[in-house]
Amino acid sequence: MATTLQNSSAEEKKTRSREEIPHEDRWNVEALYLSFEAWEADLKKWGREERREGHWQEITAFKGKLNEGADLLRNLFQTCFEFERALSKLYTYAHLRHDEDVANDQCKKAYTRISSLLFDFRQETSWVEPEILALPEAKLKEYLTAPALAEFRVYLEKIVRLKPYTLSAEKEELMALAGNALETPSRAFGSFNNADLKFAQIEDAQGRKLELTHAKFLLYLRGRDRKLRKEAFETLHHSFAAYENTLCDLINGEMQKHLFNARARGYKSCLDAALFSHQIDTSVYHSLIATVRKNLSVLHRYMGVRKKLLGYDELHLYDLHVPLVPEITFTMNYNEAVREIARSVLPLGGEYQTVLEKGLGQDRWVDKYENLRKRSGAYSSGCFDSMPYILMNYQGAFHDLMTLAHEAGHSMHSFLSGRNQPYHYSHYPIFVAEVASTFNEELLITDLLAKTKDKMQRAYLINQKIEDIRGTLFRQTMFAEFELRLHTWVEQNVPLTPALLKSEYRKLNSDYFGAHLVIDDAIDIEWARIPHFYYNFYVYQYATGISAAHALCEKVLKEGAPAKERYLKFLSSGSSRYPLELLELAGVDMRRSDAVEATIRHFDTLVTELEQALR
Ligand SMILES: [Zn+2]
Repeated sequence: MATTLQNSSAEEKKTRSREEIPHEDRWNVEALYLSFEAWEADLKKWGREERREGHWQEITAFKGKLNEGADLLRNLFQTCFEFERALSKLYTYAHLRHDEDVANDQCKKAYTRISSLLFDFRQETSWVEPEILALPEAKLKEYLTAPALAEFRVYLEKIVRLKPYTLSAEKEELMALAGNALETPSRAFGSFNNADLKFAQIEDAQGRKLELTHAKFLLYLRGRDRKLRKEAFETLHHSFAAYENTLCDLINGEMQKHLFNARARGYKSCLDAALFSHQIDTSVYHSLIATVRKNLSVLHRYMGVRKKLLGYDELHLYDLHVPLVPEITFTMNYNEAVREIARSVLPLGGEYQTVLEKGLGQDRWVDKYENLRKRSGAYSSGCFDSMPYILMNYQGAFHDLMTLAHEAGHSMHSFLSGRNQPYHYSHYPIFVAEVASTFNEELLITDLLAKTKDKMQRAYLINQKIEDIRGTLFRQTMFAEFELRLHTWVEQNVPLTPALLKSEYRKLNSDYFGAHLVIDDAIDIEWARIPHFYYNFYVYQYATGISAAHALCEKVLKEGAPAKERYLKFLSSGSSRYPLELLELAGVDMRRSDAVEATIRHFDTLVTELEQALR
């Protein structure tokens, strides 16, 4: 790890065009299709374009016949998956090519075509599950134990579980009809948040006028200019506060939608309805909140340390993101980063290490660098018939190194599940996805800390890790708690008003952050700007994910081989079991509070270390 003093006059590099990016720095899309001509030919084969009446008749031929026996149902599953697999390969190619240059007309057209084809495919196969669920109980029992369906048993089980909450055909049709209208609150929030809302200009310490956008908001909050931080924080939140009635109604609309679905289907609560399909016990959710609450003094202590280290009389909410360690510039080129990440995953064994190192290197999973009109950010994506591609805009900063490690964790998960599972179990649910990626971040940080002797560099790494846990475990649990309250209020007919939401949100903040932090009035409205409150009990999975990853990583590092084997088995299991079972297989029981508690203890230790390092 090389560090130098920040060079503020760093030359602005000109962004290259796609053509200027060397072949070896681009992802290997040609492994999927050599060209759009080859893609087109495959599209003709699997798509609807040359099909009579525009239907996948191989599949619709089964309609109305699912009571005819296990062999027939197996044939249907095989046919469906064969098409789905081929279409997702077509989709992957168009999607990747589209993201290489989002303004390229050919790529854009291909992407739009395959996206709408996939939508049609889903529409035209949407009868399958309801028809299975409408089968008599005895028939379902027969299918669940039929040898002919053995390889689809878990898949079938997951469908059949929903039977008690599935309505009559007529009512299901009505539910589907209502579906589109019920999307309105979240769509309206999206339009408001991404398009309509504009922020006033703000001023930095030198009196320069600056533009405020969603993207720049965090950048300003991480900066050293305290006046700018305060202005950004207040201006952004005041902008939302000006629409508090509308935003409260939108959130209410979303909650009413969840309540409608839960009640219409006969679930006990909105939470039950959201967690049931993945067989996640609601106790996982409640236990997360209870455990974090019980340990809030740890976060309070960190606020005290932060206040002291920054040397402020008062610590405000806009002081939460500024780094505690003096700026150090970290630079690491891409190849060094790959070597570094590969070294850090050695605890997972030589084979894992080799696949990862080759994948990030000569096998060209990664589209490494920025080019003109390339999609921003980073992701891991692919399909059963492709390598697990990674899109990056690697610039050599510490953040880029961590991102590459994170995405490589996802990609190895896809690689191992794809290699060890049949197509229909090769995907994995969100509840486990972030475990694989966070695990690798944890390995990398551990490795970097183990070999970094320089005090400031160590403090820098520790600070990064602390902020990571604060943002992922504490903050997301606070969101999860608020989200649960929103749902409970509508379940109990408590009217949602801006006054109620603001006062409760404020209380939550003061509970979580404690007495060392000034709870600025502007925060009362923060709930109104969080898109995740429209995702139906999603955020808690960030908190459980980082906790599970931390617990598993500690096990692998301490116990070695047996823990490693269990973890690799988990990575190789895709969706062949339910998420909680998968994690249990790996060695962590998320129904218990141990993993969350251990992560909080780890946080506490890091805070102490940071305090000592910066003394
Ligand atoms: Zn991720």
